[in-house]
Amino acid sequence: MLTFYNELHAQHQGRHEFFRGELVPCFEKPERADSVLAELGRRGLGRIVTPHGVPLMSLERVHTPRYLHFLRNAWNEWVALDPANAKKDAIPSVWPVRTLRSDIEPDNFAARMGLYSMDSGTPLTAGTWTAAKTGADCAVNAAHALRLGERGAFVLSRPPGHHAGADFFGGYCFLNNAALAAQHLLDDGARKVAIIDIDYHHGNGTQSIFYQRSDVLFISIHADPRGEYPFYLGHADERGEGAGHGFNLNLPLAAGSSTQAWFSALETACIRIGSFAPDALVVSLGVDTFAGDPLSRFSLQSADYLKIGERLAWLNLPTAFIFEGGYAIKELGVNVVNVLEGYETAL
Ligand SMILES: [Zn+2]
Repeated sequence: MLTFYNELHAQHQGRHEFFRGELVPCFEKPERADSVLAELGRRGLGRIVTPHGVPLMSLERVHTPRYLHFLRNAWNEWVALDPANAKKDAIPSVWPVRTLRSDIEPDNFAARMGLYSMDSGTPLTAGTWTAAKTGADCAVNAAHALRLGERGAFVLSRPPGHHAGADFFGGYCFLNNAALAAQHLLDDGARKVAIIDIDYHHGNGTQSIFYQRSDVLFISIHADPRGEYPFYLGHADERGEGAGHGFNLNLPLAAGSSTQAWFSALETACIRIGSFAPDALVVSLGVDTFAGDPLSRFSLQSADYLKIGERLAWLNLPTAFIFEGGYAIKELGVNVVNVLEGYETAL
């Protein structure tokens, strides 16, 4: 397993997020990646390297130029409004819902924050762009490594990516690393790529990016969005659109579902991936499915993550694992590295 580590991840460090009516300390914090890095080192699962920077053009394969321009400059604009803002996170507070227009980009900064976001739980900070861009570099580098013959690559980065769409951030995510990896695999010669998202939350950003395409199969196993974030996407009847019809598979489970139900969904996903016959696999690896996760309500145990890695290995595909959610800091490293070790040792 070749790990691409984002050593600049801690530059994205939010102070507070809105959560259940309160401003609380951010759940998505640097200790998350530190925990995984420490465990990776302990187990010696392979080389850990830092990525080469990729041109913005690579990011524009997935994200709109308008959104990328906003994201790059947002912090400087925020501080230019008032020097005192340097000590505060920028948090969106207004959104262009349904009957309002989103085709015109407003001049007002708060209005643009809202145009390019989906919630108030995702603070933008001084180092957000640097951390997110370096994470995107890791994702593209990992995809490239697979094309050069590597069997498995791991992107150890934060902020995560799977909630970020082509032109919006949210759910702690800014740039969609899984989508960037999948797109780079295709641009580098793969004919078809499958993405399996096993985070507790539906990968709405990834789904929306590939919804009308048949060269990327997107599958997500997640908590029913009627009760869990991202709420407005992730239902079973979302099958894809136009040429993409039949290439999107959502497997929502009720919050509180058993581990057996979860693995049954994994089996359904693996069978669909097998019939799709892709050239490579991208895994959105969230471990907030863990019983002890403070944000979630599934009941996987640490040993279950080994089994997930083993099952994915049997698909026998070059695989890029992308670190997404998981907030039980103490067990986070063990759970993530268990998936990777299961993958490495199964065959
Ligand atoms: Zn999650």
